[in-house]
Amino acid sequence: MNQIYTLGKDLGYEETITTYCPACQDTRSNKQEKTLSITRKVEGLVYLCFRQKCKFNKGGIVSEKLGTTQKYKSQKAFVPKVLTRPLVPLSFYSWSSMIEPYDISLEECHTQGFKWDNQTSRLYMPVYDYRGYEIGGHAKASTKGAVPKGINYKHKDVPFLHFPLGQELGEELVLVEDILSAIKVSKVKPCAALLGTNLTKPMVAQLQEIGIKTVYLMLDGDALQKAIRIRHAKGHFFWNFFIIPISKELDPKDISYDKLRRLLP
Ligand SMILES: [Zn+2]
Repeated sequence: MNQIYTLGKDLGYEETITTYCPACQDTRSNKQEKTLSITRKVEGLVYLCFRQKCKFNKGGIVSEKLGTTQKYKSQKAFVPKVLTRPLVPLSFYSWSSMIEPYDISLEECHTQGFKWDNQTSRLYMPVYDYRGYEIGGHAKASTKGAVPKGINYKHKDVPFLHFPLGQELGEELVLVEDILSAIKVSKVKPCAALLGTNLTKPMVAQLQEIGIKTVYLMLDGDALQKAIRIRHAKGHFFWNFFIIPISKELDPKDISYDKLRRLLP
């Protein structure tokens, strides 16, 4: 753990660096990738390596005691995951190949803050909370078969629910899986993306806090069973909880605005 101490010793309080990971750098094909994140918290230096196979992937804390031996205690800790390399504006070409088929305009993409990660050829979409504050991002692969398909970046230890910008929230909310679906549906009815298919307890608590009474759960067409399980486990936390089933091979973003209006009265 001395390596973590050395790497993070100059950090100020709540400051984060992303750097090369001493635990896994040698075993990786891409040695140029910075995968280790260290943040100074009250408890000490909180660290996490983003690489799945690394022994630092579970995260941990190195506490510092005035130059004496550093004690290492393994525990689950939240470590911000931030994409630090510079991103470039979304080009017309990337938009037309990745987003235009869903009938979402390039202007809309700019409004939502979409960027492009040249190094990995990924579409970077910021994740906003219900107030419009950026709490993270999602990097979607542009090539078929890329692993992983999407990478989540979480800046804050808050429920990872994405609310597209430019909508006014009321008591009804549609929940979809992905960001593009959420943007599209939000033109018809207020909508948030789960960034997956889990409606976690903290997400439920947040939705209750902001006054959501009616939920329309509109997962991808292949996830109907999952939707039924979610309603069974979490439906009773809301006044109304409807499942909006769609065709097996479709995502909400594949559905036309007109059809969405009919599905979501
Ligand atoms: Zn590592």
